[in-house]
Amino acid sequence: MTSAHSERPPVTVRVPAKVNLELLVGPLRPDGFHTLSTVYQAVSLHDDVTVVDDDEWGCTVTGPLADGVPTDGDNLAVRAARLLEAATGLGSPVHITIRKGIPVAGGMAGGSADAAATLVACDRLWGLGLGKEELERYAAQLGSDVPFLIAGGTAVGSGRGESLAPALARGTYHWVFALAEGGLSTPTVYAECDRLRRNRIVPEPRPGMGLMGALRTGDPFELAEHLRNDLQEAALSLRPALREVLDEGLGFGALAGIVSGSGPTVAFLVEDLEAGLDLAVALTASGTVRDVRRAQGPVHGAHVIPAPID
Ligand code: ATP
Repeated sequence: MTSAHSERPPVTVRVPAKVNLELLVGPLRPDGFHTLSTVYQAVSLHDDVTVVDDDEWGCTVTGPLADGVPTDGDNLAVRAARLLEAATGLGSPVHITIRKGIPVAGGMAGGSADAAATLVACDRLWGLGLGKEELERYAAQLGSDVPFLIAGGTAVGSGRGESLAPALARGTYHWVFALAEGGLSTPTVYAECDRLRRNRIVPEPRPGMGLMGALRTGDPFELAEHLRNDLQEAALSLRPALREVLDEGLGFGALAGIVSGSGPTVAFLVEDLEAGLDLAVALTASGTVRDVRRAQGPVHGAHVIPAPID
């Protein structure tokens, strides 16, 4: 059977991963979430998400990183399309194809990125003409990181991370990401963080002025002084081998190393492109990490691109 809209061309959206330059985790809220103060940066590891009219809702995930990603209604991209359809009453079933370039369960918000990309793609396919702000409002219903993956750039997140304000950032930063074997579940890492802090008083988090100042200089050496992740202790407690990865990256010349979000990907900040190449080669040769990816930030949020060539 052919869809009533089968003459409409597919829409492809490219979406970046994120790294948290600062992730401050406040007290546990009554709704089960933590108050966060975070500074996100969008980096040039991408998923490409294509939506096309179909008779039924469906999803395919491709690429070497596709393992373990659900293709049913649990996929965040499918949830995003169905949310937008239900909220506007203007959509119709689509097949979603996700080409995965973002590590899965790696603390880089790959699922959230696909949800963000799907909102932007369906908005275009269905001709809804929703602005970024309205799409970001739907995005917040899907997850804390989803609005930022629409916005891109560098931004401060508060609340659960979904409330965004742009950050004044100069320059381009070079990153090397060390991918680990297997993922870490975000709720498990937060639970471990709560367990480790059970006897401590946890203050309400506030963005660090040092980091905001460093971002205005555009100097990676300054930024390296101010990277911070309150989930790192928990990720290291659950995955002690990450300590070795961090030490190794620093030994090979990274300016700073930090667990990305809830981990287990480790993000290394380097001086420039060449330093990134050297570090990537050294980490790969060391055999401590599953794989290595180089990226730059900040980059744009989810945006329509011409159809990718398979
Ligand atoms: P975050 O940093 O946002 O907490 P993450 O980057 O650690 O998340 P994801 O890659 O988003 O992790 O995947 C977490 C889990 O979400 C996966 O194990 C998978 O079961 C599920 N998931 C649902 N939809 C997707 C998707 N489109 N891409 C990846 N994982 C998905």
